[in-house]
Amino acid sequence: MALIRIGNKSRELLENREPMLEGKVALITGGASGIGACTAKIFAQHGAKVIIADVQYDLGQLVSESLGPSNCTYVHCDVTNEDHIKNAVDKTVSTYGKLDIMFNNAGISDTPKPRIIDNEKADFERDLDINMTGVFLGMKHAARVMVPAISGCILSTASVASNLGGASSHAYCCSKHAVVGLTRNLAVELGQFGIRVNCMSPYTLATPLATKFVGLNDEDLENEMTVLGNLKGVTLRADDVTNAALYLASDEAKYVSGHNLFIDGGFGIVNSAFK
Ligand code: NAD
Repeated sequence: MALIRIGNKSRELLENREPMLEGKVALITGGASGIGACTAKIFAQHGAKVIIADVQYDLGQLVSESLGPSNCTYVHCDVTNEDHIKNAVDKTVSTYGKLDIMFNNAGISDTPKPRIIDNEKADFERDLDINMTGVFLGMKHAARVMVPAISGCILSTASVASNLGGASSHAYCCSKHAVVGLTRNLAVELGQFGIRVNCMSPYTLATPLATKFVGLNDEDLENEMTVLGNLKGVTLRADDVTNAALYLASDEAKYVSGHNLFIDGGFGIVNSAFK
């Protein structure tokens, strides 16, 4: 729970704002930790009912209980398992009556070795199963209930690695490029049903995923990324990503679809420009 820190200024802005998701129902995969847990909290503060779908039972229950049983429900879900995803979507509809926002956020960065020649096919497939196939399944089952409703919003978490080489492992990079491809294609396919499809690409921020990948604790990673980032002295936190998710999920973004929103302080552009 320490990983869903919200800065004082952000908290003040969020609490004083008109609720942006009143009456909406959101399903968040990977909602037990990091960006997903922070998003569950902010979405609930903005009036949404939230279902957290994750493989971490204890953490998922904890986040759900902290938001109140009438606002949030945890469902055990491995995003690589189609029956689990189908069940999470059906549970959302049976509990809260509909699904307005599908947030495909669960992800890992687990390729064991940095060099391609040292990795096995199974190592490559592991990141792709969760980060790419998990997003495909989330999109598919969200569309199953959103198409008849002729409305909905599908949002996924990609990464700066969706547009850059060398920011992560080859498998992670490939999986996040795929999230953008799925987003663009689905935005076209589902637009005729009033469904918007977008993704977001954050720079590195301190969550269990990133601290495990770079082998640093939260504080050291935050310090390092604050120095390495393009916006000197600015620290990227989960609530910065959540604020972008809040905008994209809300009716404020009612004509925004097929977009990959970078929350990277310009890192991707700078990196490409000087290479
Ligand atoms: P995190 O580790 O805090 O959260 C990831 C969540 O996904 C965890 O709760 C985990 O249990 C869940 N998860 C993993 N495998 C799953 C599965 N098979 N089924 C269901 N849930 C599963 O990490 P985070 O940084 O909050 O990651 C969220 C998303 O943000 C990921 O897609 C990640 O790739 C992306 N991202 C993270 C960073 C970063 O630096 N932290 C940067 C860019 C993008």
